[in-house]
Formats: sequence, C-alpha cells, structure tokens
Amino acid sequence: MITMPFNFWYMEKDKMTLAKKHNFKDKVVVITGAGGVLCAYFAKEIAKTGAKVALLDINLESAQKFADEINAQGYIAKAYKTNVLELDSIKQTRDAIAADFGTCDILINGAGGNNPKATTDNEFHELDLPPTTKSFFDLDKSGIEFVFNLNYLGTLLPTQVFAKDMVGKKGANIINISSMNAYTPLTKIPAYSGAKAAISNFTQWLAVHFSHVGIRCNAIAPGFLVSNQNRALLFDEQDNPTARAHKILTNTPMGRFGEAKELMGGILFLMDEEYASFINGVVLPIDGGFSAYSGV
Ligand code: NAD
Repeated sequence: MITMPFNFWYMEKDKMTLAKKHNFKDKVVVITGAGGVLCAYFAKEIAKTGAKVALLDINLESAQKFADEINAQGYIAKAYKTNVLELDSIKQTRDAIAADFGTCDILINGAGGNNPKATTDNEFHELDLPPTTKSFFDLDKSGIEFVFNLNYLGTLLPTQVFAKDMVGKKGANIINISSMNAYTPLTKIPAYSGAKAAISNFTQWLAVHFSHVGIRCNAIAPGFLVSNQNRALLFDEQDNPTARAHKILTNTPMGRFGEAKELMGGILFLMDEEYASFINGVVLPIDGGFSAYSGV
C-alpha cells in the first residue's frame, strides 16, 4: 500500500483553505462556544489541519450538528455538552475528551456574549428621556452578572480545568476572544465592554503566569463582522447599511465589515508554534483598522 505524507493528504483535500498552511495533526483542540457562529467556523477550519477537535457548548444539539458536518468531511471532531460556568460539567467533559482523544493541547475560549438585560436603550443619558426608556439606572443586576460571568468566569474556569493538563506540553497554548469593546467601550453595553476588557487583561495575566511552563496565551479582538444573526440589524431590505451600520463603517478605515473567515488567519497563526512560538500575551485586533482610528 502506498501511504501519502500527511501534508500532501490535507493539501489535496482542501486546496482552498488557509488551514493547509498549518499542521496540527493529532493535537487535541478544545473549543468552547463551538455551537455558535464564530467558534463553529473555527472548529471546521481547525479540523482541516488534522487536529482532533472537541466542540463544547451548553447547546449540545448545535455543537453536535457542526461535529457531524466535520466528521462527514472525513475529519475528526466530537461534541460535548458543557456549561462553562459549572466546574463539574467542565471536568466531566475534560475526562471524556481525555478518553476519546487524549488531553488538551490547545484551548480556545469562545463561549461569550451579551444580554439585553445589561443593555441601555440609548447611547446617551438625556434630561428628557421618556419614562419607558431603559436607562443605565434600570439595568438589571442579574443581567450584568450573567454577562460578566459568561465572558470572564466562562473563560477562567475552562482554563483552570484544561490548562492543568497542558503544563509542560510542547506547543500548548490558549486563545481567548476579546472584542473592540475592550479598547474603548461601545455605547449601550457596559457589562459586555467591561467583561471583554477583563478578558484582554486576563490574557496578559495568563501569559505571564504560565510563561515558565510552556503555555502561551493570546487573544483575538474581532472587529465588526456580518453574520446571518446580525445581517438584519446592519442592512435594510434594499441591502443599504442601516444607521448603526453606517456609523460602524464610517469608523472602520477599511470601510467594510469583516467576515468570520478573516479571523481564521489570526487564530491559526497564534495557535501555531512554528509561527508564533515567541508571541505571548498579545490581543490581536482583526478589525479593518477600527481600533486604530480616532474618528478624525
Ligand atoms: P454565538 O452566540 O453565536 O455563540 C456563543 C456560543 O456560546 C453559543 O453556541 C452558546 O450556546 C454558547 N454558550 C453560551 N453560554 C454558554 C455556557 N454557559 N456554556 C457553554 N456554552 C455557552 O456568538 P459568536 O458571535 O459566535 O461569538 C463567539 C465569541 O466571539 C464570543 O466570546 C463573543 O463575545 C466574541 N465576539 C463576537 C463578535 C461577533 O461579531 N460575532 C465580535 C467580537 C467578539
């Protein structure tokens, strides 16, 4: 039987993908929030590098659907129902992954998001707001806790559980997902902005803390992306940008929205020991210049 070198095999299979430039064969990549829009996309691309991908989500049905798609293409993936806020749930998943694939090499902390209960109706407080307006003074404590916990604790707890097995492993690293909010808060969403600022800070903390045991830690900070979820908020029925979209585009020097696939180069680069072995503690904006622009 003629055996093909691994590189040849995956390059032939996916000529069009960035993943062909990276080889994570047999690495165990754990991705939280992998039933969601961005992390499902990451999981699908990372699987093409030869990695064994564990898709963790509180919504098993969604993670399962993406794991099935990956398996149907001949790559290796498995879905695990996991609540990133429950240590027991994360530990159960860690044990299941260890039995299925081996211990974690690379952790991507993707579970996160905002909540309407932690969002004001208006950008600015005014003297004459109608009483029905949800102002800063009406924000719900439970909504704020939800957002802080999901984004911050939901990154810290999986890191506590999975990084223990990554200590001393060659090529081990962690990628967190920060946001444009971390640099300058966006209007209306104080809890999400604060939580993502905490993620950037925690990324640096982890990078320093694990620097003697071989685990790098970095983050990406995505700019404004169009996805099926937010398309209706950003474009009207004639496909013209809405007022909010117009504001975003005006403040994005490249004058357009990004796409999920444009995050992939940054993720693969930071994950890859061959390219990024001395990169530790950075938060990489992938934003068309948004975070660099003062608006004038
Ligand atoms: P998404 O809502 O599509 O996915 C988030 C996933 O997290 C969902 O599948 C959800 O079920 C899962 N989740 C929620 N609570 C959980 C819990 N307790 N335990 C386990 N899983 C849980 O979001 P997305 O747009 O794919 O965003 C992914 C990450 O990227 C988030 O951290 C988000 O804050 C960040 N981000 C997104 C954008 C963007 O434009 N979409 C921009 C900047 C940062």
